[in-house]
Amino acid sequence: MKTKLRNIVADFPILQQQVNGKPLVYLDNGASSQKPQMVIDAITKYYSEINANIHRGVHTLSQKATDAYEDSRQKLQAHFNAKHSYEILFTKGTTDAINLVASSFTTLLNAGDEIIISHLEHHSNIVPWQMLCERTGAVLKVIPMDENGELLMKTYEDLLSDKTKIVAVNHVSNALGTINPIEEIITLAHQYNTAVLIDGAQATPHIKPDVQALNCDFYVCSAHKMCGPTGVGMLYGKEEWLNKLPPYQGGGEMIKEVSFEKTTYAELPHKFEAGTPNIAGGIVFGTAIDYMNTIGFDYIKQQEEMLLQYATEELLKIEGLQIIGTATQKASVISFNLKNIHPYDVGVIVDKLGVAVRTGHHCTQPIMSFYNIAGTVRASFMFYNTKNDVDVLVSAVKRAQIMLS
Ligand SMILES: *Cc1c(COP(=O)(O)O)cnc(C)c1O
Repeated sequence: MKTKLRNIVADFPILQQQVNGKPLVYLDNGASSQKPQMVIDAITKYYSEINANIHRGVHTLSQKATDAYEDSRQKLQAHFNAKHSYEILFTKGTTDAINLVASSFTTLLNAGDEIIISHLEHHSNIVPWQMLCERTGAVLKVIPMDENGELLMKTYEDLLSDKTKIVAVNHVSNALGTINPIEEIITLAHQYNTAVLIDGAQATPHIKPDVQALNCDFYVCSAHKMCGPTGVGMLYGKEEWLNKLPPYQGGGEMIKEVSFEKTTYAELPHKFEAGTPNIAGGIVFGTAIDYMNTIGFDYIKQQEEMLLQYATEELLKIEGLQIIGTATQKASVISFNLKNIHPYDVGVIVDKLGVAVRTGHHCTQPIMSFYNIAGTVRASFMFYNTKNDVDVLVSAVKRAQIMLS
């Protein structure tokens, strides 16, 4: 395992640098992961060898670009175990995917219908549903959470009814690391024939979900959190739902025939992919998934569980440090605060020592309100992090505490 680890860190050129004169310890993976050489090379290869618009030209390059783009869609299909490749839509990312679904649901909702989200959501899985409620007169319901950062499932059962039309929850909380019981959430919702969307942005860097086994109706994620490029993500949608929903945006590529009297829409997946997409991004998303699979999700789980446990133990040895989010099922995300010290100040000092963490509300203001705090310091780990990274973090936090108290 040691050799494997050494090779993994070497795959990431950015991790070889110094920041503020110290070796970089990158623990802001929850915001965006770093990219291995294989992904960086694939971007260069696309622009130096096959760049052309897809689905449009008879010429060879256009064919090559189209094939590479569609190959990547099939890689995503295989990775997430979708039944059909046309159930995989490329989007700009998680936010874009959720907005697509929320926007397209407008025509399916009536005033008084209900949408259920949870207290643990990222703003991007709150605001699009609020906007949908404003458009349709639907009502937003929220699954409450407890002090540990776990959802109150009994209340969820009570919230569900024949009025519920969609349930949208995250698989893993980006602020606290809670792994939500999505199997149970999905099964309960389906008793009411409700669609379920899972925000997998924070789960897919750590877990390989099987959308058919989960039986979710939509599953969304962003490539940039899984070693891939920014500006590209995935919306998995069950065929029956994608057929029921109207297109999100109109334009080129999403049509069958256009006249001024009537336009007919293209088949899936093109119906939801208007305009020239992020072609390089879509192709290289597949490369990032290949890379993660060569590391292997068993190894990823083992390494990250070790890091989570070790970092939790070591951080808790610091007097006055409190971990926010103590769910039994957690991904490798640790939010914490030092007594009487603002998280921002901690972030600034540890950065001087080479440690990159996120501070603030993490786009989850309702969670911060629940704990009555302004924000947290968040260390989020990927499989390429090491025990030494944890040691550097812990001593940097200790330094910050001494300097700020
Ligand atoms: C990062 C994140 C998002 C938003 O993803 P974008 O890539 O910014 O669109 C949504 N939900 C969760 C849980 C996230 O971690």
